[in-house]
Amino acid sequence: MSAAPLVRFAPSPTGFLHIGNARPALLNALYARRHGGRFLLRLDDTDRERSTREFAQAVETDLAWLGVNPDLFFRQSDRTALYDAAAARLKAAGRLYACYETQEELERRRKRQLGRGQPPVYDRAALSLTDSDRAALEAEGRRPHWRFLLDHRVVAWTDLVRGDSHVDCASLSDPVLVRADGSYLYTLPSVVDDAETGVTHVIRGEDHVTNTGVQVQLFEALGAPVPAFGHHNLLTTADGEGLSKRLGHLSLRSLREAGYEPAAVRSLAVLTGSAEAVRPVASLDELATLTDLAHLSRAPARFDPTELDGLNARLVHDMPFAEARERLTALGVPEEISETFWLAVRANLARVSEAADWWRVVNGPVTPVIQDPAFIAQAARLLPEGPFGPTTWKAWTDAVKAATGAKGKALFMPLRLALTGLEHGPDLAGLLPLIGRERALERLEGQVA
Ligand code: GLU
Repeated sequence: MSAAPLVRFAPSPTGFLHIGNARPALLNALYARRHGGRFLLRLDDTDRERSTREFAQAVETDLAWLGVNPDLFFRQSDRTALYDAAAARLKAAGRLYACYETQEELERRRKRQLGRGQPPVYDRAALSLTDSDRAALEAEGRRPHWRFLLDHRVVAWTDLVRGDSHVDCASLSDPVLVRADGSYLYTLPSVVDDAETGVTHVIRGEDHVTNTGVQVQLFEALGAPVPAFGHHNLLTTADGEGLSKRLGHLSLRSLREAGYEPAAVRSLAVLTGSAEAVRPVASLDELATLTDLAHLSRAPARFDPTELDGLNARLVHDMPFAEARERLTALGVPEEISETFWLAVRANLARVSEAADWWRVVNGPVTPVIQDPAFIAQAARLLPEGPFGPTTWKAWTDAVKAATGAKGKALFMPLRLALTGLEHGPDLAGLLPLIGRERALERLEGQVA
């Protein structure tokens, strides 16, 4: 029997997570859930200039909101010693070599290659430097950056999403693993960590396919087992535009602040571009059973952010009171909110937060709208005695209908306007008992109540 999977989500804390990042986070977390594995959250924070503590904290908060709770957590900035040791081994094996070109020199060389119709691949000039060349360059004040010497061969793997996949490493530049200031780029720390923690499945966006070719060689050079890889299609907006951390309104934080349910965001982030229809799925376990990497589409996962509204509304319409109560308490709706209230209003809500508006309509003050005072006065006289219950509305409107001959909209709309001050709203059969006889009568008499 093979060991339980260990998967990881490895964002760089250089911005707020957005719905496109929710996709790999969830695909990993759901994979672990489905296969009895564990989920590691790793902060890829080796870029010290762009990584901030605020973004790092936000990653944790946003994932928790999404319902993704890591089994393991660490940040790369705490693990430099491991990367140093790996770099030393690669140098000793002749797989990491010193280069001294400046950005400008590299750029000039690239232009020349392109001008000759050659691919802009690093020409490995630094490999032919002698010790005295290097000493001379260092004497000029240059510090080396370090490139990984790729084997010029095809790396092949069976991708968990894309099936047979390969990268021809002969067409790639030897990647820089260590900058001149000694800091690490993403590649080496990622492989060292995946190897050291025993990550079994690397599930990430298809923008990393080429990296996988390089990384497989790096696992091998370090003598580590190569994990399985799965590259999922990326979420794009309906016009095919990719999502970047700059698309602020689709950040998980703004979606949370706008009052969307995490389950709506999860459903859209995961089911878009899969074999399943995009629909609201409240439970993570159910979402896990619907998420099969092999059934993800190869085409971009296009979505329209307005789909969130429909998904959200459908989730709210079915939301049990216990769940709504916590949310409402956080939104400042008073404690005495009842299950009856929730069940009376939920079918009318696009977001849970709108319940607060109906709480105010029930409890007042409401300014009644009365267009036909005689009609409303007659209706007020027919208002049944209390206490009000689920059948009160029907009994009352039947009586008003019999007395006035009004029916349909002509019957219901004036009553709704007088009782709530609004043209639309939840079913009055549910709302009237919550408003209660006393307040209903005051409103029918035109008082603000
Ligand atoms: N930090 C990398 C990123 O944000 C991680 C990619 C990976 O999963 O290996 O893209």
